[in-house]
Amino acid sequence: MFTIPDSLISAVRTARHIAVLTGAGISAESGVPTFREAQTGLWAQYDPLELATPEAFRRNPKLVWQWYEWRRGLVSKAQPNPGHLALAQLELKVERFTLITQNVDGLHQRAGSRNVVELHGNINRTKCFDEEVVIESWAETGDAPPRCPRCGGLLRPDVVWFGEALPRQALAGGQPTAPDVVDHRLHDLHVQLRVRAARSRQRQRPVALRARPHWSVKNLHSGTF
Ligand SMILES: [Zn+2]
Repeated sequence: MFTIPDSLISAVRTARHIAVLTGAGISAESGVPTFREAQTGLWAQYDPLELATPEAFRRNPKLVWQWYEWRRGLVSKAQPNPGHLALAQLELKVERFTLITQNVDGLHQRAGSRNVVELHGNINRTKCFDEEVVIESWAETGDAPPRCPRCGGLLRPDVVWFGEALPRQALAGGQPTAPDVVDHRLHDLHVQLRVRAARSRQRQRPVALRARPHWSVKNLHSGTF
């Protein structure tokens, strides 16, 4: 059974600013397939590396849009797991808490986390391909992708594709920027949460209740433990 090390407990108790990094593992525990696992059924024939690029979108925007629609469907069926919920609770107990995630599924926010830096964007948000501004609503004409109501250009998911820079809004604003947090300069405790990727081979089984967080912890002021 996983036990939380005493050193982590005392570090969390005394930290005033905690930064946590999460990646695909915590989403996998909610049943969201990782990027590479995601290709099943109709989409198995496609390489995600060839769908998640600006070039792929320019070449075949309909195909890329429909792929994201399918992935949004997968995400919408997933629920936050105890790992997400624990981080949302931790945020309430710490003076300053920054959650930095590579995940695009929004599960941290659905679990209640507020200060979330989405390094790779959010699959449920849409932006204009040309203008790179977030678009909240548009006319549903049946086009895939739909058109930007501002400029008539194509809409795309607001995620970071291969070859693209990290979003400015994730790197700026009133909070310490993600690079600063990652640089370990502005916080006391840096927690990298890894959730065991070993899931049931039967994908249909709910996995959320079996989430077992693994903590990889660096106390930046007193070395690694
Ligand atoms: Zn536009």
